[in-house]
Amino acid sequence: MKTDVQSAARRGRRSIKLFKVRGIQINLDFSWFIVFALVLWSLSAGYLPHVFPGSSRPIYWTAGLFATLLFFFSIIAHELCHSMMALRLGIKIPEINLFIFGGVARLSEEAANPKDEFKIAAVGPLSSFALAAVFWGIRNVVEAGPAIIVEVFGYLAWANFALAVFNLIPGFPLDGGRIFRALWWWKSGSMARATKIASDIGKGFAIALMVLGGLQMLSGAVIGGVWLIFIGMFLKGMAEVSYQEIAIRQSLEGMRVRDIMIKDVVTAPSDLPLKRLISDYFLRYGFRGFPVTDDGRVLGLVSLGNIKDLSEEEQRTKTVGQAMTPVTPELIIPPETQVTEALKQMAQENTGRLLVMDKDRMIGMITQTGLLRLLEMKRALET
Ligand SMILES: [Zn+2]
Repeated sequence: MKTDVQSAARRGRRSIKLFKVRGIQINLDFSWFIVFALVLWSLSAGYLPHVFPGSSRPIYWTAGLFATLLFFFSIIAHELCHSMMALRLGIKIPEINLFIFGGVARLSEEAANPKDEFKIAAVGPLSSFALAAVFWGIRNVVEAGPAIIVEVFGYLAWANFALAVFNLIPGFPLDGGRIFRALWWWKSGSMARATKIASDIGKGFAIALMVLGGLQMLSGAVIGGVWLIFIGMFLKGMAEVSYQEIAIRQSLEGMRVRDIMIKDVVTAPSDLPLKRLISDYFLRYGFRGFPVTDDGRVLGLVSLGNIKDLSEEEQRTKTVGQAMTPVTPELIIPPETQVTEALKQMAQENTGRLLVMDKDRMIGMITQTGLLRLLEMKRALET
């Protein structure tokens, strides 16, 4: 599986930095340990004793550990194949995040055309099929050897085969969804439309998995059912997030802060009493924040958050300058910056507005609500 969950990465998931391959940082999310333990346990205490009875526990667990490690390296190999193909096509890959039950290679940008998208997506399942063939080959070579080793390689062949098939399901953000999207994009010429359809199929598939999981639970297979529901929820979330990100990024593509900023910004003087800020600014204009100025110089930003927790007394005695957030480089954005970058900065700084400064002069302001309104309007005009 491969998708662009920059938002997940941005939220700073807890993860361990493993190693670097050709400049790509491989990260291991803590959730992987749970999955690792589950796979190890189900192999060593369930599958192997079942198919190869009569051996000792240490042997099951040693063989189980060996198989689990190789399986997890198979997943890394799958993700690396996506990344290497992307690199070859000129797309940078900052990192690969391995979590829950698979991996995600984070692309710095989307593929430029359907052909590239197809190549990057298809190489993943192909690599898993190839690994399945290799493990099956090894299994046949060692067939005369200890039966448990034969079982382990047989299992690895089967697991990689299953991984390839699962990823070929044509719902975004699975590889199959990407392949489907590439073909649709190539046929129709519209990437946005193709993404919408592929992610709808992905969501439909995720819901089907959850329903199946629920039925399994009702029939008594509780653990298997929980897993299906869990995977379904995860896929549904990914389909939604990936689509939103692409939709937003696409409609803002190429736009600069200068193009969309509010130019006639209402500013509040720093010596204004807060009481009057509320009555003459917040209630009058209906904005959620104002830049604070003194003699035309920008000192900071005052928003609802700065004053809503102040007491009646404080609101009467304090001035705007005392309650504002002083301006810092994180609250400033140059006019030539890409709007997508501005969105990222607002998310990182957890602020709803940024001051657009040209050197020392404030020439405008951009707000999250303003951007969302713009997106809504663009969408309404498109349909
Ligand atoms: Zn993949």
